[in-house]
Amino acid sequence: MQDDQAKLKSAQETFNRIEDPVFIHDLDYRLVLVNDAYCRAAETNEEAALGKFYWEVFPPGDGPLPECKSVANGESHKPARDEIAVGDERYISNSYPFRDSNASSPWYLHILAEITGSTMVDEELNNANKLLQTVINHVPVRIFWKDRDLRFLGANTLFAKDAGYSEGRELIGKSDLDMAWREQAAAYRSDDTEVMESGIPKLEYDERQTTPAGNEIWVRTSKVPLRDHDDSVIGMLGIYYDITDRKRTEDDMLRLATTDQLTGLTNRHQFNLRAQQYLRLAERENNVLALMMLDLDKFKPVNDKFGHQAGDAVLKIVAEVLKKHTRETDVVARLGGDEFAILLVNPQDGANAEISAQNIIDEIKKPITVLGYEVQIGISIGIAVYPKDATDIKTLLKHADEALYKTKETGRGRYTFYRAEMSA
Ligand code: GH3
Ligand code: MG
Repeated sequence: MQDDQAKLKSAQETFNRIEDPVFIHDLDYRLVLVNDAYCRAAETNEEAALGKFYWEVFPPGDGPLPECKSVANGESHKPARDEIAVGDERYISNSYPFRDSNASSPWYLHILAEITGSTMVDEELNNANKLLQTVINHVPVRIFWKDRDLRFLGANTLFAKDAGYSEGRELIGKSDLDMAWREQAAAYRSDDTEVMESGIPKLEYDERQTTPAGNEIWVRTSKVPLRDHDDSVIGMLGIYYDITDRKRTEDDMLRLATTDQLTGLTNRHQFNLRAQQYLRLAERENNVLALMMLDLDKFKPVNDKFGHQAGDAVLKIVAEVLKKHTRETDVVARLGGDEFAILLVNPQDGANAEISAQNIIDEIKKPITVLGYEVQIGISIGIAVYPKDATDIKTLLKHADEALYKTKETGRGRYTFYRAEMSA
């Protein structure tokens, strides 16, 4: 014992250089060593402190620190950690048991690290985090962030609800494969990876998303890489908003602008655009195009006899017949009134155009029942072929029209191919 105390004395100088309060007590909690910083904190001196229960000196209390109690009972020799408040100051007390040279009576070394300042920083950070969480839960966009392994680290409430959960924190540790949008998970994850690997944000793009109810919505998404203080990418943050309504309006407007309302066929304007596109493609790939102009025969009398509604019903039936005898890739349009046009893509030198035309003529001339009336009409067709008859759409349309005129002139209910003398 004497030896140990002597050793401790010689260590005193070292302890005095430590800026944090240090004290050592014996098994009975009586102080056997205190350093200068301890004396300053306790506002006492070494002589007055030694031999006292440490809580009578510093840190003040009714007895040993909670973690320190068990070690003194001989239950444990593990280092202990206590957080204590002394007035406005806060300390972490780390205590380490050690044995004297006889390995008989254990002593305990306490180092008191003052954490008053850092705790305030922690509290401020905590408050800032709470504020941030409140903000992200109230903005009308979906927000989420993931780690490098594409596991969710957090999300706002709106996002959690889209995913089929009620709160952002339920998502922590989960991935897109656990969400309502399993179907789109692979695509989402590949975007996340791209953003993290390139370090470049991917902004404002539209994509589909499956809702917990199994519906499909449209969202406009932005993803940015998340970086730490060293600037290395540690994850990604994404936001999106629901644009389903806007998308639907856009789709409706597009449909209105490009289709004929009565029959749902392509309208004149869109037919011209599509024909231009196909012509450029045909130029590049040395393909043939056949352009058919079609006009119903004796259609006006249907309106006159059975009314406009019956006429409309006939126009719809005609549209179906035209689609039936063409391919998906062909463009079928209603140009207006009882006038239609078809662009046959790559119809093998016009041979398929003849087959289509004949099938259409044969089917249209059969009696049609509309609104309880039986009506009979016919259809006349003029055909011009690219590149044989013309190499631009405008001329091709003109020549097909001239061929149609010829059909009307020479008896209707037939098709006519354009010939150069028709333009003479
Ligand atoms: P032709 O055999 O010479 O082609 O004569 P047609 O009776 O078919 O009449 P024409 O092609 O000269 O005129 C087309 C008629 O189609 C004129 C108009 O009354 C009718 N029409 C035009 N648009 C519509 C429509 O949207 N609905 C209905 N029901 N009829 C229409
Ligand atoms: Mg007509």
